[in-house]
Parts: sequence; structure tokens; C-alpha cells
Amino acid sequence: MIFRQLFEPLSSTYTYLLGCEATGQALLIDPVVNSIERDLAAVHGLGLRLALTLDTHLHADHITGALHLREHTGCRIAAPAIDALPCADIGVAEGVPLRVGSLLIEALHTPGHTSGHHAYVLGERVFTGDALLIDGCGRTDFQGGSAADLYRSVTTRLFTLPDEQLVYPGHDYQGRRVSSVGQEKARNPRLGGGKALHEFEQIMAGLNLPYPKFIDHAVPGNRACGVCPTDLPEQLQAYCQRMTESLQG
Ligand code: FE
Repeated sequence: MIFRQLFEPLSSTYTYLLGCEATGQALLIDPVVNSIERDLAAVHGLGLRLALTLDTHLHADHITGALHLREHTGCRIAAPAIDALPCADIGVAEGVPLRVGSLLIEALHTPGHTSGHHAYVLGERVFTGDALLIDGCGRTDFQGGSAADLYRSVTTRLFTLPDEQLVYPGHDYQGRRVSSVGQEKARNPRLGGGKALHEFEQIMAGLNLPYPKFIDHAVPGNRACGVCPTDLPEQLQAYCQRMTESLQG
């Protein structure tokens, strides 16, 4: 399998490029709209053809590149079925494996950051989105978020994977790239070391995070698989500025 970990610095998002060597098909997990040119250059540079985009959840901090990637490549859009996005070609659900060439992706419903959040297992890796970050986790205070749900998702769905399973998170704000289930189980300050539910709930309730600055624009844009809102504040236009640029040539 071909694997690349790509980083989008405005939202500190990791996009994952997975390629099947046998068929030349590729998928992108959590592409970001303002990085699609870079992502396509990576796909084509490896001699691959984009077959699928796959989002872990409805993002509040950036806009997915799914729709524009489909327009440019004819790929299909996969997103959690539970979110019922009319723009998605494939509704992802636990128990229904997703196949791209020889790659077999298993979806795990991991609610708590958002109600529809899914993590994806592929071979020795698990792409945990914002359910489990390195030494952290996504916030649980909006979009159907729930600390109790996230605790259950992480402890019963992710921490039950083998200790050796490599954890590739949806974001990292300190340049860390990969962890493992064993490492997060042992030392994640919010969920590791055998933390009890009430301890986790206390930690999450005490974060006092500010209202996400992009959420009111990003969530409607992502429900449409990546449409740039027309009323973006000036300081956020960088997220979408490339959407009007041509990718031709
Ligand atoms: Fe998120």
C-alpha cells in the first residue's frame, strides 16, 4: 500500500493519501478544500488515480475538499451514512467494509466529538479523526458532542484495538504525526491510564474552550460536501480562496 501523511497548516489538519499499488486507485481521508491542488499533485505524482474521498466527520474548523475533488477527478464521495448528506455517493457505516482496489477499510462508529463521527481501520493503521488525538481528543461541546459518548467510543472501540495499531489523528497542533493504541492507552492525559468516565467528563467540562470561529460557516459548507460560504469573514477567506482558481494545466 502507498501511504502519505499530508498536513494543512491553517487548520492543522492531517489528510491521508492511501493508494493501491495493484490497481492504481487512491483515496484521501479528510481532504481540506484549500489544499486540493497539493493533494492531487501528490496522487498524480505517485502514478495514482483518485477513486474516493472519505471524511471522518462533519468538520467545524475547515471545509472538506470532497466536492471539488469530485468535480476535478470524477471520484466518489464517502461520508458517514448517519449524517445523511445528499451530496455523498457512499454512506459509510460500521459493519459495511469499504473497498478501494485491494484496500479494505473498516469503519468504526465513534460518536462523541460529533454524533456521526467514524474512525477507519486499514491494516496496521487506524485513522482516528478527532475522536482520539495524540495526547488529547476532539472537543465534545457542540454538533451532538458528548463526553460520555466519546469516552465510550475511545475505551470500547479504539482502545480495544491491538496495542501495536498505529494511531493517525485528524489534527495535531504540535507537529506530532503518529502514535499507537498502546501509547494512548498508557499516557493520553484525558483518556489514558485507566481514567474513569467521571474524570474524563470533569476534564472536558473544565476546558472552557471559546466558540469555534469557523463553525457557522464550515458546518453548512461541509453538509454540502465542501461548498465555500459566500459570507466568509476576511480573515477566514484563506480557507476557500483556491476554490475559484482553475486546476487546469
Ligand atoms: Fe473536528
